[in-house]
Amino acid sequence: ATPTALLVGTGRGAQLGVLIKGPQALESTRRIDTVVLDKTGTVTTGRMQLLEVHTADGVERAEALRVAGAVEDASEHPIARAIAAGAEREIGELPAVSGFGNLEGLGVRGTVDGHEVLAGRAALLEERELGLPEGLGAAKAAAEAEGRTAVVLAVDGAAWAVLVVADTVKASSSRAIAQLRELGLTPVLLTGDNTAVARSVAAEVGIDEVVAEVLPKDKVDVITQLQGQGKAVAMVGDGINDAAALAQADLGMAMGTGTDIAMEAGDLTLVRGDLRAVVDAIRLSRRTLATIK
Ligand code: ADP
Ligand code: MG
Repeated sequence: ATPTALLVGTGRGAQLGVLIKGPQALESTRRIDTVVLDKTGTVTTGRMQLLEVHTADGVERAEALRVAGAVEDASEHPIARAIAAGAEREIGELPAVSGFGNLEGLGVRGTVDGHEVLAGRAALLEERELGLPEGLGAAKAAAEAEGRTAVVLAVDGAAWAVLVVADTVKASSSRAIAQLRELGLTPVLLTGDNTAVARSVAAEVGIDEVVAEVLPKDKVDVITQLQGQGKAVAMVGDGINDAAALAQADLGMAMGTGTDIAMEAGDLTLVRGDLRAVVDAIRLSRRTLATIK
């Protein structure tokens, strides 16, 4: 009877938009007590918009948008898409970039018109012992206090601008997280984004535990640490960044709206790309396995 019940469960999952890789994934689902949720693209829509451009003294807004847009145009990151699209909308065609580099979890770099351009987290400047002028620092702090992401733009070693982008929480996230709690699960928000943004999103959706400013390569360590504390961990993610963590988790759940790499790494794929499918998957596995017992 066991294989039959699992097959029925797997079929029922497909109807709910939960693609289950193998019958053992249903068994892993039942044991889960902690659900780690990637922020961008998982709890939030991941569709960001460029909202504000703050420039340093003597820097033209159009010039800042031109170089930032050019470098970000070479990246697939949701933040990069927002900046490139916002820049293009305002100034038209973007210049070419050479020597583009993706600085994983930090930002991007490239050369535009012979100038060295960096865009990303303030840590990029700190690493190079560059400061942020007071006005830009204030704009960044104000944006982050509102739960927005501030991208610092530096050109030839000088801070040029702070570009503010924002993402929106998915309409379904708060309810799904409340339901996870009702099922006795502890949600944890995991992100490379800064603590202020992470806390603001967490508060909006009702998550108490936040692990922020985690580099992509370190996301897997957060899972391992929780497992070391005796937790049975599910990880929900969408990105290339999340693949190792999805594979390490006791149960990896990939958003169907995310990257192929994430889907390959996960045990379950959530076709609808919303967190209610996590709740459905857990309920389904409990029901299916209860039938077997
Ligand atoms: P998350 O964990 O939320 O999916 P990432 O690990 O992809 O986020 O990125 C972490 C942080 O690095 C972002 O919040 C942003 O501040 C910065 N960052 C990453 N890529 C870019 C980019 N292309 N342009 C600007 N900033 C970036
Ligand atoms: Mg992500």
